[in-house]
Amino acid sequence: MPEIPDLEAIRAFLNERIIGVEVTRAETAIPYIFRTPAKDVAAGLTGNRFGEVLRRGKFLLFTLADEYVLVINPMLSGRFQYVRPGTKKRAKTCLLLALDNGWELRYADERLMGKIYYAHIDDVPHVPQFSEMGPDALAVSEEEFRARIRKHSGAIKNVLTNLKFVAGIGNAYADEILFEARINPFRRRTSLSDGEVGALYRAIGTTLRRSLPVLREHFREELDYEEWRDHLKVHRKGGEKAGRCPRCGTRITEIAPNQRITSWCRVCQPDAAA
Ligand SMILES: [Zn+2]
Repeated sequence: MPEIPDLEAIRAFLNERIIGVEVTRAETAIPYIFRTPAKDVAAGLTGNRFGEVLRRGKFLLFTLADEYVLVINPMLSGRFQYVRPGTKKRAKTCLLLALDNGWELRYADERLMGKIYYAHIDDVPHVPQFSEMGPDALAVSEEEFRARIRKHSGAIKNVLTNLKFVAGIGNAYADEILFEARINPFRRRTSLSDGEVGALYRAIGTTLRRSLPVLREHFREELDYEEWRDHLKVHRKGGEKAGRCPRCGTRITEIAPNQRITSWCRVCQPDAAA
């Protein structure tokens, strides 16, 4: 799932290349994924010019010259491509935009769980999930973070990935943030001390910001986005060929209830009873 560091890297890459660029042709191959009728999206984009690409939580917002916005929520498997026209298309390419600078911007979605909207800038707040979203994880102040977290209970990892609490953290970076903060992912939110809540807040900024330059390194000439997870310290480092905790050397523990992988260090992130 693309999370804040992935989307920020994609956004920065595109902002260096597509601002002011015109869409000469729009192909909407898989209408299912369009929450605004695909033909309206194609008609609106053709001949239009891109403004800045923005991000809010896990949404990318492609602003356009006429105050409309192409809003993409890539969910689990949405992938962006910025390539030359001859480049092989990914399976399930839903949207292909030919640009007047000689490149193509594409969106593919293997599991077709993503959502594409096309809305006037004034209507973007009505896009589903937008109004429910908490503040962006990179923008929330510590004071607001502390106030909001009191309203959420349950396992702390589930709180972190709940977009109503803060937006932009998914399964992978939640594991990294909890490792950084030395908090067990299954601890109840209500069991966290004030000091631990502060450590958690700081770990969000540290972990996400540390990843940004790493991801940007992968996108130089073109963007053909796969998930870059090699730089993570614990997430998916467990399992059969378990890696070791970079802090204490203990083997990383990993479980996958409901096919959602959680990885942590039992020593650095003890459970509440320990
Ligand atoms: Zn450890």
